[in-house]
Amino acid sequence: MPALVCGTVGALLMMVVWQFGILPGFIKHNLSFSCWCSAVGLPVGALTIMFWRPKGLMFVDRMCINQFDVRMKAEGILNIGAVLSSSKSFLVMFDESYAERLWCVFELSAFLKAQQGRVGDKLPNVQIKPLLLGLVAGSVVVCVLALGVFAVFNPFDNVIVMWSMLLLFVLAEGIFVVHAFRRYFRSLEHTLQQLRDFQLQNAFCWCCSVNHINPANGQPVPVCDREIVRQCVTSWFGAEDKFNESVRSLLPQALMQQLGADAFPYKWILGSTAPIWWPFIDYLATYQASEEVS
Ligand SMILES: [Zn+2]
Repeated sequence: MPALVCGTVGALLMMVVWQFGILPGFIKHNLSFSCWCSAVGLPVGALTIMFWRPKGLMFVDRMCINQFDVRMKAEGILNIGAVLSSSKSFLVMFDESYAERLWCVFELSAFLKAQQGRVGDKLPNVQIKPLLLGLVAGSVVVCVLALGVFAVFNPFDNVIVMWSMLLLFVLAEGIFVVHAFRRYFRSLEHTLQQLRDFQLQNAFCWCCSVNHINPANGQPVPVCDREIVRQCVTSWFGAEDKFNESVRSLLPQALMQQLGADAFPYKWILGSTAPIWWPFIDYLATYQASEEVS
């Protein structure tokens, strides 16, 4: 949203600047065309995405738990329950490996468990965002911008050629998006199945996968994550079986609620298609200025 607002404000400002007639344009149909709104909207939007810092505190396990000091790492992990129970929301960056990874499943189910008493029957505030959403939204932005730029600045006088090219853009993007979502729904189905059969002892854990010998330096890994998770699970859920049951019942429900019907939310569709207006602001600026001259 901030990128969209900043990009659009940048484009509108350039529209105002264009009216002063100080910027060079390019000639099409005997008119000097502005291209400044698109040229400014795109980099301003991209820079805002890269440098915008949202307010509010965030706990990122890998960064906030000491990964180098064994004692501090163990303390951080054992106290993660306190962090989870005082967190207002939980963000899952979802991909198809999510249900296989011990840490991901452990943290999400611990958060659901810790928040259950607080919110009653309603599911706690878990936001599940598929990583694919970023790729699809980014490709839609590029496609609609290319569409807009082509529609406004193309050099063809032949309407049939122009519309054929526009249709090709839409077709190429459509095929990409459909293919991406088909793959995504297949992986979601696979993930749900994995969660329904979840067992802590089978979940993927890095230290166990390398037999507790660090391949980088050949040294033994001093703490087994699975054992720490087992300790936490036993103290929070009573027994490992209860934790497995909780994962099998709560997680598919949380996942389906957000990822099933609303995989590409309406707000994201609006946001990623909105940059199509930037080239048309150029169009508006050009004709606004030419009317003032005539
Ligand atoms: Zn291990």
